[in-house]
Amino acid sequence: MKVGFVYDPIYLKHDTGQHVENAGRLKAIISHLEQTQLIRQLTPIKPRAASVEELSLVHHNSHIQEVAQKGSGWLDPDTVMSADSYQAALYAAGGIIEASEAVMQGEVGSAFALVRPPGHHATATRAMGFCLFNNVAIAAKYALTKYNLERIAIIDFDVHHGNGTQGSFYDNPQVLYTSTHEFPFYPGTGSLDETGKGEAKGTTVNIPLPAGCGDTEYLEVFGEIMVPVVRRFRPQLILVSAGYDTHWADGLAMMQVSVTGFAQMVKIIKGLADELCSGRLVFTLEGGYNLTALAASVKATFDVLLGNTNIEDPLGLSPRGLAAPNITPLIKKIKEIHNLL
Ligand SMILES: [Zn+2]
Repeated sequence: MKVGFVYDPIYLKHDTGQHVENAGRLKAIISHLEQTQLIRQLTPIKPRAASVEELSLVHHNSHIQEVAQKGSGWLDPDTVMSADSYQAALYAAGGIIEASEAVMQGEVGSAFALVRPPGHHATATRAMGFCLFNNVAIAAKYALTKYNLERIAIIDFDVHHGNGTQGSFYDNPQVLYTSTHEFPFYPGTGSLDETGKGEAKGTTVNIPLPAGCGDTEYLEVFGEIMVPVVRRFRPQLILVSAGYDTHWADGLAMMQVSVTGFAQMVKIIKGLADELCSGRLVFTLEGGYNLTALAASVKATFDVLLGNTNIEDPLGLSPRGLAAPNITPLIKKIKEIHNLL
C-alpha cells in the first residue's frame, strides 16, 4: 500500500526565532528524506487550511479568535507566534485532516503529516507548549463526524503528556487516548489515575514513565499495556501523536529511546492497524528537537510504514549510561487499573 506524506512550505513560515521549535526541524526532515531518496517512495498529500468550523470541533471560539487576531507575540511563556503563524496553524490542522481523508478514502494505506506548529498541548481554550491548535484532536473529531466512525484510538509517544488531547476526549468514549510520557514532567498531567470520566471511564490510558527509560522499557509497556488496550478498544482508525523528543539525544527530556527503538514502536503500531482497522494509520508530528535524531527517526518511521527492513540508526544506542529504572511495579499497577491482568 502507498504511504502518504503531508508537507507544505507554509509550515516554515511559523517563525519562532531562536525557539527550539523552529522551522529548522521540518527543513532537516525534508532534506534527509530527499538526500536518502526515501521521498521518492512516498505519495504527496496536499494540505489545506482547516476551517474555523473544523477548529471549533475542539476549540472554543474565544481561543480561535485570540490566535487569529494576535498577529505576533507570546501566547504563553513557551509559545510564540509570528505574522504567518495563524495560517500555518490552519494548514497544520488541515494537513492531518487531509492525511486522514487520504487514508479513509483508500488513496494511501497510511500517512504522516509533517506539520508545525505541533498540537497535543493545545487545549479547548488556550495555546500552550509550542502548540496553537490541537491538530490530532481536530482530525479525530473530523473523522468521527465525516465517516460516522464509532471508535478512534490516539497513540501518543511524544515524551510529554498530551494534556490537550486527553482533555478533548476525557468524557468521550468514542476516542481512546493512550500516552507514554516522562513523569513527573511538563505539563504535569498524565498520572496513571487519570482514566477518563463518565461513560469514557477507561478510555484514557496513561503510562507515566520515570526518566531514563529506553527501548527496552518502551517496548515492554507497549507490549504489556498499549497493545492490549488498543486491541480491546477495536479502533476503526489509529492516529499517532509522533513526538521524537523521547530520543536519548534530545535536549528537552531525559529518556533514552533510539532511532531503532522508534522503528520497533512504529512496527507494533502498524501491526495493530493492520490487525484491527485495515491498516488505517495516520501519524502527525509533535515534538523532537535534536535535528539528527528527529530526521533519522521520521525516516525510520516511513521505512517501517513502507515495509523497508533496513533501518538506519546514525546515532545508535544511548551513551548516557543512565541506569534503566525498574518499571515492573508500575506496569502491574497500570494493568490493575485498566483490568488487563
Ligand atoms: Zn514533546
